[in-house]
Amino acid sequence: MRFDELKTPAYVIDEKMLIHNLEILHKVEEDTGCHILLAQKAFSAYAEYPLIGKYISGTTASGIYEARLGAECMGKENHVFAPAFTDEDMDELVNICDHVVFNSVSQLKKHKARCIEAGVSFGLRVNPEFSTQGDHAIYDPCAPGSRLGVTLKNLKAALEEEPDVLSGMEGIHFHTLCEQNSDDLEATLKAVEEKFGFLMKDMKWVNFGGGHHITREDYDIETLEKCISHVKKKYDVQVYVEPGEAVALNAGYLVTTVLDKVENGITTLILDASAACHMPDVLEMPYTPPLRGGLKISDMEDEYGIDKDIEIDFDMDVKEGIWKPAKNGRYRYRLSSYTCLAGDIIGDYQFGREINVGDRLVFEDMAIYSMVKNNTFNGIQLPDIVIMDSDGECKVWKHFGYEDFKGRL
Ligand SMILES: *Cc1c(COP(=O)(O)O)cnc(C)c1O
Repeated sequence: MRFDELKTPAYVIDEKMLIHNLEILHKVEEDTGCHILLAQKAFSAYAEYPLIGKYISGTTASGIYEARLGAECMGKENHVFAPAFTDEDMDELVNICDHVVFNSVSQLKKHKARCIEAGVSFGLRVNPEFSTQGDHAIYDPCAPGSRLGVTLKNLKAALEEEPDVLSGMEGIHFHTLCEQNSDDLEATLKAVEEKFGFLMKDMKWVNFGGGHHITREDYDIETLEKCISHVKKKYDVQVYVEPGEAVALNAGYLVTTVLDKVENGITTLILDASAACHMPDVLEMPYTPPLRGGLKISDMEDEYGIDKDIEIDFDMDVKEGIWKPAKNGRYRYRLSSYTCLAGDIIGDYQFGREINVGDRLVFEDMAIYSMVKNNTFNGIQLPDIVIMDSDGECKVWKHFGYEDFKGRL
C-alpha cells in the first residue's frame, strides 16, 4: 500500500529515517566503544526492534513491561531504572535484565542481595543538582525537591551511617537532559565528576542517561564523543548512553483526515486525530507539532522574527516546501480534534492553499512519545500503526478497534 492510500488516523513509522538515525548512533558506538541503548519509553514499536538491534547494543526500561518487551523482542543488553521496584517486580527483573539502576540508597539496600545472587550488575542514579533546562520544569530531574537520583548530601549521610553500604555496586547513572545538545552534557558531566567522581573510579560503568538529541541536524557529536572518551579513559569504565527520542527522531508521522470546518472568528479544522488522545505531549509539554506543508503561526515570531499579528506576504509552497510570495492570500486554520475537550487543540497553522473537508494532513515527528502514550478517551479509535519501508511501501502492522477500548476497562 502507498502512503496516500492509508486509512486514517494512522501512525506511520518511516524506516528510512529510522535507519538514518541508527547509522549515526552506530557510528558513535564504533568511534568510542560506548554502548547505546534504546530508551523504550519514547518508542516501543517492537516491530522495529530486530532492525534497531542491528545497530545499537540493547534496550533500557522504565518499568516491568518495558523490561519484558526489551528482553523478548530485542534480546540484547537490557537495563532498567525506576524510582522504586516492588519485590514482585524484582523477582522477574533479575531474570530478564543484566543491569539494574536504583534511585535511592534504601532501594539499593533492599534489593541488592537479589541482584548479586542473580549475577545482575547494579548501580545508583545520582542527582548532580545541576539544571540545564530552562523552560520545562516537568522534565527537569534537577529541579528543587526532585525525587530522581541521590543527592550528594543524602549519599554522604548514608555512607557515614554505613560505610560499606554501596559494596558490590558497579555503576553510576545520571539523567538530567531533555532534547539537549552536547554542550549541556559537557557542563553536566563536570558537575557529576566534581560531586561523584570519588565513586566513579571504583565502578565498571557510567550511564549518561537520555535526553541527548544526537540525531538532530545541529547536534555536536564531536563533543559527545569527547565526553564519552574522557570518562572511559579517566575512570576505566564502560559508558552507556540511553537516548529515546534520538533513536526515532523525525522517523514517524500521524496521518489524519479533515472531517469538518467550524467558523467562529477563526476557522477550525476538525480532524480524526486528537492531541489529548494521540499526541498527549502536545498538551503536556506543550508544543506545536510540525505539519507537512503547513507553517506554525507560533514559529513566525520565534523562528522567523515576524510579529504573528502582522499580515505577511508570503506562504509555504506545499509542493516545493519553500517560501513563496502569497498569491491567493493567507489560509490560517486552528487544527483540532473530534473529542469533546475544548482544549484539544493541536495548534494554529498557515497554509499556501485552502484546506477542505476530506483533505489529509500529516503531522511530522510522531514516532516518539506518541504510540507509547496514547489513550482512548471519549471512546475514539486508536490510530493504526503502519510501517513504511525504505521504498515507501506501507504495511499495516497493527489495527485497533472497539475491543482495545473495552479490554482496558
Ligand atoms: C526519559 C529517559 C530516557 C530517554 O530520554 P529521551 O529524552 O527520550 O532521550 C533515558 N533514561 C532515563 C532514565 C529516562 O528517564
